[in-house]
Amino acid sequence: MDDAVKKWKLEICPHEAVCGGCCYQKISYEKQLKIKQQTVEKLLSQMGKVEKIKGAVNPYFYRNKVHGVFGCDKKGNVYTGIYQEGTHRIVPVDKCLIEDERAGKIMNTLCRLVRSFKFQVYDEDRGTGLFRHVLIRTGHMTGEIMVVLVLASPILPSRNNFIRELKRLHPEITTIVLNVNNKKTSMVLGEKNITAFGRGYIEDVLCGLRFRISPSSFYQINPEQTEVLYQIAVDFAGLTGKERVLDAYCGIGTIGMTAAGNAKEVIGIELNRDAVRDAVANASLNGIRNIRFVNEDAGKFMIQMAARREKADVVLMDPPRSGSTKEFIDSVKVLNPKRVVYVSCNPETLARDLKQFIKNGYFVKKIQPVDMFPFTGHVECVCLLAK
Ligand code: SAH
Repeated sequence: MDDAVKKWKLEICPHEAVCGGCCYQKISYEKQLKIKQQTVEKLLSQMGKVEKIKGAVNPYFYRNKVHGVFGCDKKGNVYTGIYQEGTHRIVPVDKCLIEDERAGKIMNTLCRLVRSFKFQVYDEDRGTGLFRHVLIRTGHMTGEIMVVLVLASPILPSRNNFIRELKRLHPEITTIVLNVNNKKTSMVLGEKNITAFGRGYIEDVLCGLRFRISPSSFYQINPEQTEVLYQIAVDFAGLTGKERVLDAYCGIGTIGMTAAGNAKEVIGIELNRDAVRDAVANASLNGIRNIRFVNEDAGKFMIQMAARREKADVVLMDPPRSGSTKEFIDSVKVLNPKRVVYVSCNPETLARDLKQFIKNGYFVKKIQPVDMFPFTGHVECVCLLAK
């Protein structure tokens, strides 16, 4: 960490004032961890013991998913950037200290190419232009790189030449996808994907397993810390090989598959259809046969399972920032698992949901904060609940 901190001191982010992504930008990494520890303790220590936060070995350049909005200045220079908070003004960002450096270089090349091919950048107010966003995902262990170009139309003139040039300049790119988003929306990705080069997805290795990741599937953004996180989650689950495990909000199946080796059976539940498709492919990619996936709202699925009076031994859950629902938690009570492992990226909704679990007769055994997002204000927690 010392070297990295030295590097940080030399290299202050020039975009800090406008970006708003790294609110802990000028604070030493050690201090950041202290602040996050206090945040979690303030919200959760009345409910259970909060362990010492697990910090990152390297807090820099960790993001494996990088997003940029295309913009254009009066001279016709194309840039990628981010929306200034609360506005639709695009602030150019040519370098970011928490994003994978390979992605930044590809983005800079793309800006030059878009200009030299005389493509128009999308204008949100007028609804004109072609290039809207770029999304780059990198495989930390495999080195695979996916470039997703979000376009306002499925037709990219001179497509072959453009793709050839991008590949020539960046032979490290393993797949290029054209995503069509012709709606007036703040959502980045549209529904249609056209694979222009490669397989249309990347693979990465996590906890010794191989995972395929499609453009719209969720995948943890800090690969090194994800291994730390999953290890804790599986450890908290206390599996012996006999259990029926639910992996709710399972994404592409990463947590459930990490646990499957020590369980009798795992059922993954996920709302996003593409993620479920990836999850099914991932299970067969790794030869895991005791896991299946259901494409359904997790709350609805739990209600149905509870209505059938089914049981589960362990429930793993990893909902989005908005947290889980009362219906989900009340159904868990009926399924009667010995343990619930709640992975949360938002301690505020975690606190709300834990209260409901406690009302239902569970108690919080321990809470382990993990720093998945250095320099930002976000903090992840794994919480073990038992009967
Ligand atoms: N456990 C996975 C994914 C966590 S992110 C991992 O570690 O990679 C949360 C996931 O919940 C996303 O994949 C999202 O698509 C899914 N999700 C969001 N709302 C949901 C709902 N109501 N029911 C089921 N899944 C949902």
